[in-house]
Parts: sequence; C-alpha cells; structure tokens
Amino acid sequence: MPIRQLAPDVAAKIAAGEVVERPASVVKELIENSIDAGSTQIRVDLMNGGLQLIRVTDNGSGIPLEELPLALERHATSKVSVIDDLEQIHSLGFRGEALASIAAVAEVTLLSRPRDTEQGAQISAESGRISNATPAASPVGTTITVRNLFSAVPARLKFLKSRNTEVSHCHHLLEQYALAYPEIRFTVTSEGKQIFATPGDGKLFSVLVQVYGLQIAEQMVEVDGDDEHEDDGEYPRVKGFVSRPSAYKSTRQHISFFVNRRWVLSRMLTTAVEGAYHSLLLSGRHPIAVINIQIDPSFLDVNVHPAKTEIRFLKERRVFAAILRATRKALLQEPEMPRWKAKS
Ligand code: ADP
Ligand code: MG
Repeated sequence: MPIRQLAPDVAAKIAAGEVVERPASVVKELIENSIDAGSTQIRVDLMNGGLQLIRVTDNGSGIPLEELPLALERHATSKVSVIDDLEQIHSLGFRGEALASIAAVAEVTLLSRPRDTEQGAQISAESGRISNATPAASPVGTTITVRNLFSAVPARLKFLKSRNTEVSHCHHLLEQYALAYPEIRFTVTSEGKQIFATPGDGKLFSVLVQVYGLQIAEQMVEVDGDDEHEDDGEYPRVKGFVSRPSAYKSTRQHISFFVNRRWVLSRMLTTAVEGAYHSLLLSGRHPIAVINIQIDPSFLDVNVHPAKTEIRFLKERRVFAAILRATRKALLQEPEMPRWKAKS
C-alpha cells in the first residue's frame, strides 16, 4: 500500500488505544478528572462490566456551557498551558486527551453545572462527532456517561475478558483511589447493586476497613517516615500503613503506592517495601501496604506513558531507601512481633 494520511476518525481510534484499553481505563480517567475538579463525592455506576455503561457523577467544579465542546477536543486542557508546567504537575490530568480518546471509542454525554451558575448544560459525542452544547437541568458538578464502549472497535472488544473480570478491574482501581483520597466519598455500583463505598471521613483507616475488612485493618501499623529530613524538600516523605507479618496475602497486588497522590505501579517501590520484611515473612507471602510518597514534583517525570501509572524518579535510590527505612521502622516499633526466619 502507498503511504496515505489516515482518515481523522481512524487516526483517533488508533490513538485512543493508548489511553483506553478497557473499561477500567475509562473509569480511571473520569475519576481523575473528578478529583482534579475538587470533588468530595464521586459515584461510579457500571453496567455489563462498563461496556454497556460507565457513569461517573461528581460534585466538583463543573464545566461552563461554553467550554463543554473544548473538553471533548484532543489536547484541550485547563491544567497545563506551557511546557514548563510539566515540571510542576499538581493535577492528575495534564494531557488533555482522555475525554477526546473516550469519545473516539464510545458514545459520551457530559452534563455539568459549575457551582456559581443557575443552569447546567450538556453535550454529547458519538464516534468523534460532537453535538452543540445546550442548556440542561443538572445538579452542581459533572456527570459523564459513557455508553457502548468499543462497540465500533471490534478488534478491541475481542480482547476483553468476562464481565466479572472487567468489574473486578474497575473495583480494584476504585479501591486504590479510595485509599489515596480518604476525604472523598466513593460509591460504586454494578448492575444497580452497590459493590463498594467509603465514608469520605478523611481517615485512611476507614478506607482500609472497607477494602480489606476490619480484621486485616487492625493488623496494620502506621508508617511515618517524617521525623528525619524534615525540612529537605528534595527528600521524599513517606506515610501510610503496612501489615504486620501476621497478616499477609499470596500476591503482591495489595501493595499500593501513591506519589503526590497519583496511583503508580512500580517494581522498584514494591521491592523496597518487601525488603523491609526481610526475614519477617516466609517466601510466597506478601505484605499489604498503602504507601503515600510526597516529593517535589520537579524530581518526578509523570509523562512517561499516556496512562500515567508509570513514573520516573530523578533520585530513585533515595526514594528506595526512604521507603525501606520508613517501613522497617514501622515494623520494628511493633512490640510482640513474631520473628521467624524466612526459609531461603
Ligand atoms: P486533562 O484531564 O488532561 O486536562 P481531559 O480530556 O481528561 O484532559 O479533560 C479535559 C478538560 O475537561 C479538563 O482539563 C477539565 O477542564 C475538563 N473536565 C473534565 N472532566 C471534568 C470534571 N469531572 N469536572 C470538571 N471539569 C472537567
Ligand atoms: Mg483527565
């Protein structure tokens, strides 16, 4: 075939694949937007594992009618304007492409009302075609409805797992965000039934109870690596909860990291936490951990991948050492800790 420019809708569908891999990726982008909008309540409704319907309702800042069309455009964002802004990212979003990507592979409706306006407005998009924004009754905040995800992308549909698998991916993701934002009240339903909820009382412990149950939550000890390097802005501050060696899981999936309140996946960070359990946990047993890392954003690169769950640290060894030390300290403060030897 000769080289040809792709039709815009085909190009958009291909580009969307980087951001929107499965229903949980849509949920992630939508709740990140809700968090960036300062919401204190976020509700997520799913039908058929998110393929039929994903609806995220928040009570955040809302979007004025005249900005609704822009919200759906690619590279349109209210969060970054010049390239130097990438050095100091304080929001979860910054690429301005999530809503555009979702609109390329699903039917999207935005209904929104900013706090200080009398009336709301709505707009919709289907296969990348955006309607006009029109006035509409809306509570304060934003409701984004995503229907028939991937129905026009059969190649992607083929790779999705069962409804239950997709629901559990969404559920796991929402648990992670709830752990990172204990001050936000999350409510999640699937097929009309509530599957997860948090009180939004600002206490990480309350969320731990909802995610892991009271028994495990009571087996967790607080991590607070703050006493050293108090005034050093370059030094990562490490806080959170880790399980006593008596409570453990058979996989590493319950070790969660948040860097400047962004959920990230990192082998390096996992290795640091597990290193602190050296000789305390038998092999094949893994701790439960929720670790919040605060670090000067200029020591971070979050723009590694469109999904933004991968990050790079400028001083990786320092972060590793801080986590290892803070976790170890938390574990050793425990008085009657069983100290059996790991079989090697
Ligand atoms: P990004 O988050 O990278 O800026 P998005 O495509 O996710 O890009 O969103 C585009 C813009 O739409 C955001 O910058 C924001 O101004 C607006 N927006 C999206 N979702 C919400 C929401 N739930 N509440 C308020 N504004 C929103
Ligand atoms: Mg976004």
